[in-house]
Amino acid sequence: MKHLSSRLKRIPILWKLMVGATLLMFLLFSTYNFAQYLVLKHWMLNQEQDELQVMMSQIQSYLKAQSPTTEDMLKSPDVNSYMLNILGKNQMIRLIGSDGEEILQVNSDFDPTWIPTLSTTKAYLQNTMHNDDHILVYRAPYMLQKGTGTVEIATNLETFDHFNRTLLWVMMFGGLFAVFISAVSGWAIANQFLRPIKALTSTIKNVKEKGLQERVENIENGDELSQLARLFNDLMSQLEISFRQQTQFVDDASHELRTPITILEGHLNLLNRWGKSNQAVLDESLAASLQEVRRLKGLVQGLLALTRAESTALTENMELIRVESYLIEVLDRIKSLYPEFSFRMETFGTDSMLRINPIHFEQILLIVIDNAVKYSADQRKIDIQCHEENNVVCISIQDYGMGIPSIEIQHVFDRFYRVDRARSREIDGTGLGLAIAKNLIHHYQGEISLVSAEDEGTCVKLKFPVIKMNTKK
Ligand code: ADP
Repeated sequence: MKHLSSRLKRIPILWKLMVGATLLMFLLFSTYNFAQYLVLKHWMLNQEQDELQVMMSQIQSYLKAQSPTTEDMLKSPDVNSYMLNILGKNQMIRLIGSDGEEILQVNSDFDPTWIPTLSTTKAYLQNTMHNDDHILVYRAPYMLQKGTGTVEIATNLETFDHFNRTLLWVMMFGGLFAVFISAVSGWAIANQFLRPIKALTSTIKNVKEKGLQERVENIENGDELSQLARLFNDLMSQLEISFRQQTQFVDDASHELRTPITILEGHLNLLNRWGKSNQAVLDESLAASLQEVRRLKGLVQGLLALTRAESTALTENMELIRVESYLIEVLDRIKSLYPEFSFRMETFGTDSMLRINPIHFEQILLIVIDNAVKYSADQRKIDIQCHEENNVVCISIQDYGMGIPSIEIQHVFDRFYRVDRARSREIDGTGLGLAIAKNLIHHYQGEISLVSAEDEGTCVKLKFPVIKMNTKK
């Protein structure tokens, strides 16, 4: 049983749909046809019975009008011709006397030996068979001078049965034809319906064999399945982009890591050869190696931070913070890291609220302010402003340092990008800070932008959507 049901489950959907539609059609048609056949048959039999009853009451009224009726009178040609007159095709009328003997009998294509001569004192209908013939008999009493006689009317339901049989055959053939049509149309509809699914399946197979560039084609009818195909294509495009980005990321990261490692290797070789005996080489190489190790450490930390910033589970531990007061608090902490700098904070008394993980807020500020400090050269002054406009809080950090050449501005948010590597080499950095800040801000539907002029300074703007107190959840 289990084996059978698992085999049934494995049947292709096309066949399941086709057989399902056919079976349903067959059940509907056969139930409806059979019920219709039964009702019709019953109705027609009632018609036949009503006809016999009408005939019987006519004969009874006629016999009553002959009173006082004697059996001899009933043998007269008048009675005989009356009976012949009302006799129908395939019928027989028999008058039986009070002694149970036949007085008169007329028939049309009906053999009187098919039914026995029977007297009755009560009217009744009888359905009987003679060989293959279906016969309906109606017996009822009538008054004779001496006692009670019986009128017997019998009709052969040959025509009725023939009609019934024809009806049954028509219904059966009609039903079979309908089942055939439903099987064919079920197959056609299922095939049409499954075409996009087949296309999807073959594309998925191709993706497995040939790679992420494969897409589903030619589904333009706008139904749910074509939407599914479009969604699949979008998903594959996103996957392809993120796969390329990942590969690019690994390439960039290994390239960035290779430089300090190569330098480190060079210094270690130097130390190995001459450092043991030459104090100057030893000191210089050790200092250079330490610097490269610090750089490596910074790179690894930056990579870790970037990976975390790109993760989707980032928006955990969010809190409602009051931007201005939190900014002042964070700035106080940062100021102590750079005592030689003067920070000027200008606020406009907004009480804007942000829903953000406070650690991320501090991390973003730290990246931007650290850059402002690093690239300020001799201009040790940094201005910070905070104001709210159209439900967006804007924090700008302005320095007056070396600035960024205009053609480079568009790249500074890329991973590992550093403006003018010669000048950057003297300043510590990994080229990951702004990429991390951008990723973090995007998780909170915010924006980061930058305006800069060479030798004049740089202004970084951070924008966050504010939370209105009445929308607080
Ligand atoms: P880095 O670790 O090199 O600072 P970032 O991603 O933070 O990496 O910055 C990318 C590059 O953008 C920097 O290398 C620097 O050349 C440039 N940059 C960023 N902020 C400033 C700034 N305030 N003034 C001048 N140049 C900047």
